[in-house]
Amino acid sequence: MQYEPVIGLEVHLQLATKTKAFCGCSTEFGKRPNSQACPVCLGLPGALPKLNREAFRYAIKVALALDCGIQKLIKFDRKNYYYPDLPKNFQISQYDKPIAYNGSVMIASGGIAKKIRVKRVHLEEDAGKLIHDTPGDYSFVDYNRTGIPLLEIVTEPDLNSPDEAYRYLTNLKSILQYLDVSSCDMEKGTLRCDANISVRPKGVSALGAKVELKNMNSFKNVRDGLEYEVSRQIEAVSAGEKISQETRLWDAEKGVTAPMRSKEEAHDYRYFPEPDLVPFVESGALVDEIKKTIPELPEARMRRFKAEYGLSDYDAGVMISDKLIADYFEACVKSYNKAKTVANWIMGDIMAQLKERDVGIAGLGLPPEGLSGLLKLIDDGTISGKIAKGVLVEMVETKKAAAEIVKEKSLAQVSDSGRIEEMVKAVVEKEAKSVSDYRNGKASAFTFLVGQVMKEAKGKANPAVVNQVLKKMLGA
Ligand code: ADP
Ligand code: MG
Ligand code: ZN
Repeated sequence: MQYEPVIGLEVHLQLATKTKAFCGCSTEFGKRPNSQACPVCLGLPGALPKLNREAFRYAIKVALALDCGIQKLIKFDRKNYYYPDLPKNFQISQYDKPIAYNGSVMIASGGIAKKIRVKRVHLEEDAGKLIHDTPGDYSFVDYNRTGIPLLEIVTEPDLNSPDEAYRYLTNLKSILQYLDVSSCDMEKGTLRCDANISVRPKGVSALGAKVELKNMNSFKNVRDGLEYEVSRQIEAVSAGEKISQETRLWDAEKGVTAPMRSKEEAHDYRYFPEPDLVPFVESGALVDEIKKTIPELPEARMRRFKAEYGLSDYDAGVMISDKLIADYFEACVKSYNKAKTVANWIMGDIMAQLKERDVGIAGLGLPPEGLSGLLKLIDDGTISGKIAKGVLVEMVETKKAAAEIVKEKSLAQVSDSGRIEEMVKAVVEKEAKSVSDYRNGKASAFTFLVGQVMKEAKGKANPAVVNQVLKKMLGA
């Protein structure tokens, strides 16, 4: 029997508001534990929550970008559970009326576009942080995170492979980054993902019992965890076992999932309307206003990059995946109009620098005009492409302009044919054997001779001129 995986993802996104979802406490990261908590986010008697306008706007922005329907009547609910990271013993969330519903995210799968339906997007508050790895026989709790606004984005079970899940997450993150509503950093926990997975015989439409996977702190982890779980479940059902509905944790080190708890049902949470937040009707004016602030999104930008700059699918895909890279690319092309060359440099030497230094494009300190300045020096023959690679690293390190570095280190190549002729002459005299090889039809001897001249010139001779002079001299 052939089985197919069925996957649905729940993403929690920490919204980058200055203050918490329902109180004025700061959301700044890394402050002294419990220094950013007040009666409201601690749930002290008599304290009343008030919705953060910015968080609400961010939620609408995301809803619009994901093509969702937007709820007319906005209301919140209490989700009740007892856990030390939740001082109120309930979380303010949205149950039956999520802010947004029925949206979609497109992914590429097997070369074709596939629509992944977004079931719901709702606003809720984060819990505190428990710290267990402390010396001694106790744990700590930090309530600074309690009440920070989260957006939960839930898909329908439309994903049919771990790779599709990976692509969905990549595209979703890219859209969210374009919207500038969150730092979207899985390692820092501002973007978290739980994956629901079941398997079923191919051709059957009923869903199998699902397992919820947690504890994955990168998209790669999500993919790896799902791969493992797909094999585990297929093996189990093939052996006639039943999959039990449960939550499992991914152990990235061991490369396995292990059971954490059997999954609670929704009624365990005893949801009921939050009585301290009055439901309100969104008139539509705010939605119209927010619509205007939505930038060109990745898919549209990709289409434009292909049409306007003639980039390939692959190149355009890399250029748009990060908004700041896309902005950088366009700024470079403004001052240096060979788009393909710019894209190649960004994908090659620039991205290598970002990786090596572990920074984003903004942190590299190489302005777009810096890169175009360098590329112009290659075009006008001042330096070779090879020398330029070294100059780029130097530019990043010293923050100097390309021309300045070329001048200081006298890297400018020799294009003066008189001087090149001298060097070619010397090589031709010294390498008599290669010269006769070339004259007897051995083409590779020519390449060797060019190499010898370049060596003589310490890499700084203009290769085009060297070729020309050498051809002439050998022909004579
Ligand atoms: P729960 O109430 O357990 O949180 P939901 O219906 O809200 O369940 O779904 C949570 C996520 O699980 C959604 O992304 C949904 O698409 C996915 N999902 C639901 N049923 C299945 C299933 N049988 N197999 C895989 N994913 C599923
Ligand atoms: Mg759920
Ligand atoms: Zn507070």
